[in-house]
Amino acid sequence: MGLVCSRVAWSGDVEELLVARDHAIGLHAVIAIHSTRRGPAFGGIRRWTYASDDAAVADARALAAAMSHKCALAGLAAGGAKTVLLRPATSVEPDGPDWDACYRALGDIVASLGGRYVCGPDVGTGPPELDALRSRTRWVNPASNDAGASTAQGVLAGMRAVFDVLGVSDPSATRVAVAGLGAVGLRVARSLLAQGVTVLGADVQPLAREAARAAGVEIVTPEQIMGVSCDVLSPCAMGGVLDERTVASLRCRGICGSANNQLVDERAAWALVERGIVHAPDVVVSAGAVIEGVLTVQQGASTAVRRQVHEAIEHLALVTRQVVEQARREGRPPTDVAWERGRAAIGG
Ligand code: NAD
Repeated sequence: MGLVCSRVAWSGDVEELLVARDHAIGLHAVIAIHSTRRGPAFGGIRRWTYASDDAAVADARALAAAMSHKCALAGLAAGGAKTVLLRPATSVEPDGPDWDACYRALGDIVASLGGRYVCGPDVGTGPPELDALRSRTRWVNPASNDAGASTAQGVLAGMRAVFDVLGVSDPSATRVAVAGLGAVGLRVARSLLAQGVTVLGADVQPLAREAARAAGVEIVTPEQIMGVSCDVLSPCAMGGVLDERTVASLRCRGICGSANNQLVDERAAWALVERGIVHAPDVVVSAGAVIEGVLTVQQGASTAVRRQVHEAIEHLALVTRQVVEQARREGRPPTDVAWERGRAAIGG
């Protein structure tokens, strides 16, 4: 029967929800376009195994909403979207999906949207997959961009603001714990080490641990990292890591990391407020890659645009500081303040 891409008639909190299937190649994907009010919707493609189809749809919607708010908070003329590409729990070659064909089919769908949606990397989607997409559509994050590096720059900018709020004048006297030492986390760790910071880190993958250990990171287990004693915890693996129970066991003064949607719910956000832990909202500090993506897609990659990208990412330090200070004044979670500001900037 080939590729079938259907629009879900009632899409609730998102402008558009598409479900794409092609049984011959094993494609099953959900594309959620949250908002195009400020401009075309930008958002990566996450390849992941979900407990159910509903969980995949819920993740696509939540991540797409986060992208719209992230773009608005960063002042970009862009909206947010997200694709999740479902990886079956038992995808053993040669019977599993033909991933190259899946990405090319997704490229055809993105092309058919005519620039309304611009896709890019996310967990499970890196340079080879982006090349497959580029063979079918031009609406892809440019190959000359480095999403991991840009995101790390934003996290480091946010962390400077957190240090300021905590009254840290000399970062070299601090300890930072990085959970997840991949494209973003390892860069964050390396940069902090270069500033003399003591960096602890954890990753589930032995190769990631080895690279970090070689750089000077003190390795602990993934079970230990969330509870190690440190000044700032930097969640750079998956989202949904902060619930009431985890928050109770934290031994840090601040949190600043790239993982999207770190808080499981409102209760976790309030538990952080009650414990006086300064949380730099991920919807602010993880905007580096989308800033680079939006500005280079919309304006090209000249030296002047590159400078603009750099400055816009550095500006996240100020946004973080404003959000955290407003939250402190009003006695509420910084994430609430950030999403409220994002909603106001999206309008509607
Ligand atoms: P990545 O896949 O390169 O790295 C993530 C690392 O986390 C991997 O090394 C993985 O082994 C590790 N990991 C997974 N589960 C873990 C666990 N339970 N404990 C410890 N380590 C674990 O991904 P990335 O590009 O570095 O992105 C990190 C996070 O930041 C993701 O949540 C991503 O959605 C978010 N983010 C990334 C970007 C970007 O541009 N790369 C942009 C915005 C947000």
